[in-house]
Amino acid sequence: MVLDDLGSSLRGTLDKLRGKSRISEEDVEEVVKEIQRSLLQADVDVSLVMELSDNIKQRALEEEPPSGTPARDFVLRIVYEELVDLIGDSTELPLEEQTIMLAGLQGSGKTTSAAKMAWWFSKKGLRPAVIQTDTFRPGAYDQAKQMAERAEVEFYGDPDNDDPVDIARKGLEATEDADVHIVDTAGRHALEDDLIDEIEEIEATVDPDISLLVLDAAIGQGAKEQAQQFDESVGIGGVVITKLDGTAKGGGALTAVNETDSSIAFLGTGEEVQDIERFEPEGFISRLLGMGDLGSLVERVERAMEETQEEEEDWDPEDMLQGQFTLKDMKKQMDAMNRMGPLDQVMDMIPGFGGGGLKDQLPDDAMDVTQERMRSFEVIMDSMTDQEMENPRSVGQSQVERISRGSGQPEEKIRELLQQHKMMEQTLKQFQGGMDGDMQRMMKK
Ligand code: GDP
Repeated sequence: MVLDDLGSSLRGTLDKLRGKSRISEEDVEEVVKEIQRSLLQADVDVSLVMELSDNIKQRALEEEPPSGTPARDFVLRIVYEELVDLIGDSTELPLEEQTIMLAGLQGSGKTTSAAKMAWWFSKKGLRPAVIQTDTFRPGAYDQAKQMAERAEVEFYGDPDNDDPVDIARKGLEATEDADVHIVDTAGRHALEDDLIDEIEEIEATVDPDISLLVLDAAIGQGAKEQAQQFDESVGIGGVVITKLDGTAKGGGALTAVNETDSSIAFLGTGEEVQDIERFEPEGFISRLLGMGDLGSLVERVERAMEETQEEEEDWDPEDMLQGQFTLKDMKKQMDAMNRMGPLDQVMDMIPGFGGGGLKDQLPDDAMDVTQERMRSFEVIMDSMTDQEMENPRSVGQSQVERISRGSGQPEEKIRELLQQHKMMEQTLKQFQGGMDGDMQRMMKK
């Protein structure tokens, strides 16, 4: 993920400021160096990095910290504000009738993003339609159609028509009942003149409210030229960064945002239509700085629960976050986990848990409930009584023996499950403390 290791390295540096009430120029230099190193490693444009670090340096040395503010919090807050400023707000996308055009090179993830965005708008209660005008890439039509079906949204395309402008026009007419029209365009391997001509013509025909540039997070310095060209030809109002689930550095996308004077609209985090997040700068940066992003966590948990269709079972993820964590919760958690991603990733989003946080102090396998273990845990849970599920601490040796006979699992496995539950419960309790921590304090100031 973008600037992934900024969080941990910066936290290390900032931790050295703990207990200090004043900061020296040396301290500031060290923090700024750390930030520069991480940003450059993440492929952020050099001039951008310099601008950001100069701002941080200047403010940290010139501004007077509010009385009683520890030096660490003060610097952290400046870093946070400057990063928010660099990344900017998320692109404004009103929940109303609109036409959105997608631009980008082939393989950047346009077709996938079109369906994902349509899915996202449909979850917001709007009626979206995807219009596929890519006549260049073989298979684009079928892929787009299938993804639109998976997203359960309206779709228009015509594999027998080789005129993208005509498809766009007809597509808008055919889907006129839809509220949000998402027009996917063709990409090429490189920015060729005919691609630019084509997208300009489509733009003139479709007259979109906004054009979004779709960028693969792996793009490095090349982002600058692409962003400039597309911005000149159709005007880029926002950026969609895809494939953030990979190991990509993502710094190029920040460069593109800066270059087009636009902002980030969405993040793509996988190949499925649901793998999309609206970009939230504060949450994103909190996460990046290791402060956690509770909103995003709760949203993911809720979404996963919705998908497992267990809402009516009266399970509130917030209860879990309050520390009331029974074996029943653990079972639900295990079911949801497949859809949500590994628990240790989820933990990364909780304040105080991520890299350098509580998670690192736990044994490696504390959160590692692998598929195989999950299956045996499930079999065991099926042999437990309701009372035991609600109150696993009441399970003594005789119960372990009974459950072992009932489930056909060795006693050791049952103790392992109880141990795992205990660890997760403790972790969640510690998390309660974490909530009152850094981020909240900082935001209040
Ligand atoms: P287009 O040529 O710009 O329309 O790109 P596609 O939408 O066809 O995407 C190219 C490839 O990237 C496909 O294999 C997609 O499944 C994949 N892809 C797109 N977005 C993501 C993402 O967010 N994460 C991952 N892992 N793969 C993605």
